[in-house]
Amino acid sequence: MSVWVNGTVVERIDWNDKLFTLKVEADTDPFVAGQFTKLGLEQEGERLQRAYSYVNAPSQQPLEFLAVAVEDGSLSPRLQDLHPGDQLMVAKRATGFMVLDEVPAGRDMWMLATGTAVGPFLSMLRSDDTWEQFETFNLVYAVRELRDMAYLEEIRALEAARPEQFRFVPVVSRESIDGMLQGRIPELISQGKIQEYADTPITPSRSQVMICGNPDMIRDTVAVLEGMKLRKNLRRTPGQITMEKYW
Ligand SMILES: Cc1cc2nc3c(=O)[nH]c(=O)nc-3n(C[C@H](O)[C@H](O)[C@H](O)COP(=O)(O)OP(=O)(O)OC[C@H]3O[C@@H](n4cnc5c(N)ncnc54)[C@H](O)[C@@H]3O)c2cc1C
Repeated sequence: MSVWVNGTVVERIDWNDKLFTLKVEADTDPFVAGQFTKLGLEQEGERLQRAYSYVNAPSQQPLEFLAVAVEDGSLSPRLQDLHPGDQLMVAKRATGFMVLDEVPAGRDMWMLATGTAVGPFLSMLRSDDTWEQFETFNLVYAVRELRDMAYLEEIRALEAARPEQFRFVPVVSRESIDGMLQGRIPELISQGKIQEYADTPITPSRSQVMICGNPDMIRDTVAVLEGMKLRKNLRRTPGQITMEKYW
């Protein structure tokens, strides 16, 4: 059973009409970058609750969550109705194994995200100690349209601040945007386009890959990576692929 604490929305950012960030003040336990907690709202005496990844670094306050209002979704449209000053429930303890401590050593870290799943990677990239763990960090962020790409300015600033260590590979599936790749992550990896864009190969000896978000993308990407001889990272048999499905 989760222990819940009260949270207060202190800020919200609307990236488009469905995609939003909530910044929340709540007295939760410490977490590790990449982990998620649960957000909840009372409805007719029952608590509606879902998992949401922390976007803030563990050292940062307030807590920050990136969410999309899913059409006909139970909780997410109600979260989108919240404004500064409104209350919600936050599970005190965070969980999740998509964290750098669970990943074996390697040269290049790949972070593959669809949509809101960029959040846990931002939490890692906002943490200073992350940068000591791999020589390069390659963030692949796939959305349908450019307007769905949250935090673009912050990611571009990171690129400028760490040109040797950080590469950003923006992917848009439904629009052709200058300087961005078009398509889906699995096909773009099997065609070598993502590796070419980042100027970094993906191989079992030098790569570690974290994949987060849409389960179809994860399934198809794992199949492509396994075809390239990468293996799932399990506690008993360490490999190169660590993942977290959002549904
Ligand atoms: C470990 C974990 C971490 C998560 N972190 C986040 C997060 O940081 N931000 C976030 O927005 N969601 C996140 N989710 C998904 C979130 O928990 C909810 O499922 C989502 O907000 C929909 O809830 P709902 O009650 O509105 O929809 P429901 O009525 O429960 O409908 C669920 C359906 O919504 C769709 N869906 C769910 N999540 C998403 C999504 N993120 N993007 C697009 N479609 C989606 C799927 O089709 C799914 O079948 C996470 C899920 C898990 C398991």
